[in-house]
This record gives sequence, C-alpha cells and structure tokens, in this order.
Amino acid sequence: MLQEFSRVSGHLLTIYKLPMPSFALLRHAYSVYRKLGRAEFWDLVQILLASSQNFVDARFQSEKVKALFTPWGFHLDNGPDVSGGAAFPYLEVPLDYMNGLAFSTGGVGKLMDAMIATIRAKGGEVVLGKAATSIPVEQGRAAGVVLADGTRLSAGKAVIANVTPPKLFGPLVAEQVVPASFMRKVRGFRYGAATMMVHLALDGPVPWMAGEHLSKCSYVHVAPYSEDVSRAYQESLLGYLPKSPLLVIGQSSRLDKSRAPEGKETLWVQVRAVPPVPKGDAAGELTSTDWEVLREPYAERVLNKIESYAPGFKERILAMKVLAPPDMEKDNPNLVGGDSVSGSHHLDQHFMFRPFAGWSRYRTPVKNLYMIGQSTWPGAGLSAASGYLLGKELAK
Ligand SMILES: Cc1cc2nc3c(=O)[nH]c(=O)nc-3n(C[C@H](O)[C@H](O)[C@H](O)COP(=O)(O)OP(=O)(O)OC[C@H]3O[C@@H](n4cnc5c(N)ncnc54)[C@H](O)[C@@H]3O)c2cc1C
Repeated sequence: MLQEFSRVSGHLLTIYKLPMPSFALLRHAYSVYRKLGRAEFWDLVQILLASSQNFVDARFQSEKVKALFTPWGFHLDNGPDVSGGAAFPYLEVPLDYMNGLAFSTGGVGKLMDAMIATIRAKGGEVVLGKAATSIPVEQGRAAGVVLADGTRLSAGKAVIANVTPPKLFGPLVAEQVVPASFMRKVRGFRYGAATMMVHLALDGPVPWMAGEHLSKCSYVHVAPYSEDVSRAYQESLLGYLPKSPLLVIGQSSRLDKSRAPEGKETLWVQVRAVPPVPKGDAAGELTSTDWEVLREPYAERVLNKIESYAPGFKERILAMKVLAPPDMEKDNPNLVGGDSVSGSHHLDQHFMFRPFAGWSRYRTPVKNLYMIGQSTWPGAGLSAASGYLLGKELAK
C-alpha cells in the first residue's frame, strides 16, 4: 500500500490546493489520467467517494489495522459508513507513518505568533481581542468592518471573512442586502456532531497498559475498533451521549518538553462525537439534557475510559478543565453547536458544494466581500488553503 501511496498520493494532495471547481482542476485530472492510466485513475476517484469502512474492508483483514484508519475519517465528521470518508484517512495514515505528525513546539499559539509577526513585518496591522459587529454594505459593496467598540475599519480592496456563513450573513451582513435565494442556502448550511475538550495537567505520563512505546506517540485514538467508532457516531447523530465515545488524545508534552514543567505532563482529549443538544444518554446513566449539568459527569466517563486502558491514570491528574460544546462555541463563534470543523464535510457539502453549490470560489453576492475559512473549500485543517487560493485570485 505504501508503494502505491507514494506513486499516487501527490496527485490527490494537489486537488486540495486547487480552486474548486476550476479549469486547473480539469487539467490536473486529465494529466493524472494520462500518467496513471484509466484503471488507476478511477481507483483514485473511487477512494474520494468511498466510506472509510468500505476502503479498509477492501484492503485489510485485521480489525486492528482497520482501526488505524477509520478514526481519522471522524476528524471530518465522517463516521465509518459515510461516503467520502476514506480520502482523509487514506492520506493521513501513510503520511504520518512516513513523515510523523507535525506540531508546533511550545503549542499551536506559536504558529499564530509567527503569522502575526510576518504580517506586521510586511506593514500589516493586526487587531486582536475585538469582536466585529457588522460589515456595512454601501452601493452593493462591502465598505468595511465595524468593531464592538465602534471603530470602523475601511475595506480598501476587500473584506475577507473567515466567519462561518450563518454567523456572517445575518449577524454581520444585513440579510436585506443579500438575495433571498442565497440566504436560503445560508440557512441550510449543516453542522456536524459536536466535540467536547478535556484539558489535563498530569503528575507524569499516561501509564498505558499497551506499553511504554505508546508514550512516544503525540496522538492516540481510543475507540478502539471501527465498530466502536460507528456506534459512537450513530448514537451522537441520534442525539444520545455515546456510551463509549471516540477519544483523540494529544500527549504532545511527551515529545515537546517546553509544554510542561520537568516530570509533569499536559494532555488534551478531544471527545468525539457528542450531540450539540443531547436528548438522552446511550448508557442510560445520565438523565440531564443540559450541558451545564452534564459537563463534569460526562468528563468522568471519558476519564474512566482512559483509566481502563491505563490503570493509575486518574491518580496522576493534578488539574482539569472541561469545555462542553456550548463552551466551544462561546470561545469561538465559528464552532456552531460545538462542531470543531464548522460544518459537515459530507460529500453534498464538500468540494464544489462547500459552503454552497455555486459559491465555492470564495465570492459572495456582495461585491468586495469574500468568505474563507474551514466552512469553505478545502474545509477544516490548519492548511490556510482557502485564504491562499483567494489571495492568488485577488493578486491577479
Ligand atoms: C479542538 C480542535 C482540535 C483541532 N485539531 C486540529 C488538528 O490537530 N489539526 C488540524 O489541522 N486542524 C485541527 N482543528 C481544526 C482547525 O483548528 C481549523 O480547521 C482551523 O483553525 C480553521 O481556521 P479558520 O481560519 O477557518 O477559523 P478559526 O480557527 O475558527 O478562526 C476564526 C477566528 O475568528 C474569530 N471570530 C469569529 N467571529 C468573529 C467576530 N464576529 N469578530 C471577531 N472575531 C471573530 C474566532 O473567535 C476565531 O478566533 C481542530 C479544531 C478544534 C476546534
């Protein structure tokens, strides 16, 4: 598989750096067809359309090997049985295996610091900690941005907003200046299941039963098997707190010593997927449907799941902070309902349908106003690709 991957993956990765749809994409597809030949070309197209379960079932027998792949689909809210869910695991697993998984030394905030420094060094101004409250439209053009303290920034050439469309059109841009047909699309934008975050300070590494080697991985999925991922996905889709949620565990301080004092560790746990508005508990234990009440007891279920794979883990906890889905949205308005990827990535809302059919090239009905960010093509992830693609377009 790695041999095949080395030969074809570059062709797939290129798609995520091209405007969607575009002549450049058609040219790329044609050149891949010529290079790979008909059969292998359509094999690639099939990977883009397959569910992660169908993809692994066609290639592997071991449930353990299958479980290396299917949880990755979940990062883009694709349960194992969702069409289009195979592409991300297909790319991510071999790339991580060959290159390792990238993270910023000192925390991802360092990446933001570096970007801000770059903008300032090039004469740009960065305003932080002030909410944008409106984008006035004058004579059909976005005129600027008004901040919560009343400051008005003038648009210059463009207003480029990485705000998820339902928080952009209506809350910031008056509905009246946008065609009703476009507003219908905005209202139809669909969010995926929510994420809950548990942040921990530990008095030592997680004592994984599986062995010391697991402490050397920065990222651990605990589902454990595809069947468990599938069950957690279905339960959350139906509005129930999963009996046994998929845990994505980040133990970056094992590899980056700047993140914790000597002998201590930090740990974050992404709990996926949970319902934004629970209507019950698949385990039948928790009776509340209010995240205010559920936050701590559900976190306890998460800790108990880790404890079952690492006896003694709970004794190492020094401090804990839990962010339930409403806390995630409060922290970042783009995470509607706690959806960490700002909109479902199912096929009908991805590729040339992201965020809406006919509006995947960052333009909006308002002149001068552009939408980028993870609600737009190519979707979630720290790739900055939507801004890069629009930047190239505007530079023309
Ligand atoms: C818990 C979690 C874990 C993740 N893990 C990974 C990972 O390991 N790897 C990876 O590649 N991706 C990961 N992602 C996804 C990644 O973080 C996103 O895809 C990426 O940050 C999206 O960038 P963006 O520019 O679209 O928007 P955002 O990062 O959402 O930034 C938008 C910013 O705009 C601000 N904002 C919104 N409205 C307003 C307003 N009216 N006024 C002023 N400011 C406003 C928000 O507060 C936010 O700071 C993760 C996401 C989450 C939530």
